[in-house]
Amino acid sequence: MSHATFAPADLTTFCRLDELGLTVVGQRLEPDRAVIECRLTDPDPWCHRCGAQARSRGTLARRLAHEPFGHRPTTLLVRLRRYRCDHCGHTWREAARRAASDRAKLSRGGLRWALASIVIDHLTVSRIAAGLGVSWHTANTAVLAEGRRMLIDQPARFDISPPGKTSWADFVAEKKPVNMNDKYAVCVHWLLDVAELPKATVNQIVTLFIAARWTLPSDPRNQTSQASRAGYLDSKDLQDIKLTSMGSARVLNDLPAK
Ligand SMILES: [Zn+2]
Repeated sequence: MSHATFAPADLTTFCRLDELGLTVVGQRLEPDRAVIECRLTDPDPWCHRCGAQARSRGTLARRLAHEPFGHRPTTLLVRLRRYRCDHCGHTWREAARRAASDRAKLSRGGLRWALASIVIDHLTVSRIAAGLGVSWHTANTAVLAEGRRMLIDQPARFDISPPGKTSWADFVAEKKPVNMNDKYAVCVHWLLDVAELPKATVNQIVTLFIAARWTLPSDPRNQTSQASRAGYLDSKDLQDIKLTSMGSARVLNDLPAK
């Protein structure tokens, strides 16, 4: 910890809820469970029909299983505001789409933790369910659905710590990519030039994201195209993604960003 600096203690960032568009407003700690009360960081008071500003008419609560901290299941209690437009009478409630998909029982953080637990830590679904504080069935359904969505075909197994080469974890620690395009460039560079795999595929990139415990892009294929448009990748073939000379220069010369 050579350059350690400290920010004020902040449960929102500690629980990685800022990434999900949530702000913590309360906590209830029980011996075997923590409940974190949150609201959306950016309220949505603008009428979806006429654009007028509406007033909040109370809230409803949505529970989401989040990643556990200290082996204690952490549940998010998200208070979603209800709105009614005085101008046209339209009513709606806030959607927490950055936090979870529409009918999901797990937050995106909980889902990422569950996938990492399967792929990296080789935990069983029973252990994952216990970690999340949900039923086996809920955990299993969520993991299968997300796994299928992320890794549409069976991911080719590959070694993220190849013998005699810089491991993925060490490479991430060295390059410290922050934004999505940099993360994609670092993934492809590591796959092709460090691990010296014959091809880089979108599934391998998703696996590297999971291994790095980065927030997964909601649509990895579309995100790959965005990194291409930024000039870093050639992704005409998602089963054979290449780094452009601009992408290579970015990874080799410009990261970590100063
Ligand atoms: Zn309206």
